[in-house]
Amino acid sequence: MISKIVGNVTPSATCELEGLIGSMKKEGINVVALNIGEPDFKTPEPICDACKDALDAHKTTYVATAGIPELRQAICAKLQRDNGLTYTPEQICVSTGAKQALFNAVMAVANPGDEVIIPTPGWVSYVEMVKLVGGVPVCVPCTPDFQLDLNAIRQAVTEKTAAIIINSPNNPTGAVYSMESLRAVAQLAVEKDLYIIADEIYEKLIYGDARHVSIASLSPEIYQRTIVINGMSKAYRMTGWRIGYSAAPLDLAKGISALQSHVTSNSTTFVQWAALEALEHGEEGVKQMVSEFVARRDYAYERACQLPHVTCTKPDGAFYLMPDVSWYYGKTDGTHVISDSFAMSEYLLQQYHVAVVPGGAFMAPGAIRIAYTNSMSEIQRGFDRIAQALAALH
Ligand code: PMP
Ligand code: GLU
Repeated sequence: MISKIVGNVTPSATCELEGLIGSMKKEGINVVALNIGEPDFKTPEPICDACKDALDAHKTTYVATAGIPELRQAICAKLQRDNGLTYTPEQICVSTGAKQALFNAVMAVANPGDEVIIPTPGWVSYVEMVKLVGGVPVCVPCTPDFQLDLNAIRQAVTEKTAAIIINSPNNPTGAVYSMESLRAVAQLAVEKDLYIIADEIYEKLIYGDARHVSIASLSPEIYQRTIVINGMSKAYRMTGWRIGYSAAPLDLAKGISALQSHVTSNSTTFVQWAALEALEHGEEGVKQMVSEFVARRDYAYERACQLPHVTCTKPDGAFYLMPDVSWYYGKTDGTHVISDSFAMSEYLLQQYHVAVVPGGAFMAPGAIRIAYTNSMSEIQRGFDRIAQALAALH
């Protein structure tokens, strides 16, 4: 019989939906995809070339579990440059995507039965990762404008709390946490002796006056309690390459590498050389992508606000919008009843061929997640269809 832990896991809604949309497109259905959290820009050529060069040089063997020294050194330089954080290469573990780095981190800090606080709305995989290590996810709603609710987080801390997962800029809300709230969480973590897992994968996707602050940089005490997670997927358009990393205090970093040495060993060797190129020379490409995302964010936000009976908070980062569509719950087009966010997403996809992710998958039952990771004309088409779909409900 399947184990209790695996039997109890919910598949990733974002990954499943992407599979479904792939098959719909293969069948010739013209789906406007506003679902997936992946930039629609190609991986820059110099990064691809670095990978090809590594293959030509037969850099295809096993390497150290935590990654090639050159890359770990470059990650340390990046953390110093961008985040004011000082790490040595021994504190870095390169993993198969930030996803594996996160799972390693959760496993490194939570014992079976331990509680891990997850501010919600939150990314689909946090809850499942905590369950997979035998921990207990404790979901704590954010404020209505998607900022951390410090009082609620403080109240959720118990004797069993091991860690808090912080994700800023946030998936799915696009919120960027303020310096004050990060300071307050850091203070709480130090006071209660908790770990912080800081998922900073969207760090570079930040708009207007918003600023990304790495919580580990706020004091030596919080540095000692933080595992920083980052990766190449979003900033350098390397989603399918599967490479990310963690930076942690030395004892945790050693534990993380030991764990990974039994699961995947090193992340793909020639991809690590490509990641090195991305970190050393990729910033110009990031800037161009960000300027395109700002224009899309502004357009998509405006369109969301124009939808009747829909409310939306303007996001400062990542590439998601989280409009509240709950006014339509209980309404019907005569055939389909929109009971919740899952039914709403299903209705939009099947009847109007526009793909969004149900907010319920992120513990935001009143909302849908719209990713503006598609061209301006597709975003426009997508909103036209959503507007039509909502207008048909009564
Ligand atoms: N964290 C968040 C918040 C994400 O949205 C994602 C999705 N890609 C990841 C981590 C995992 O990224 P990666 O592709 O590096 O595994
Ligand atoms: N993180 C992205 C998303 O939320 C990609 C899919 C996944 O890994 O969840 O859409």
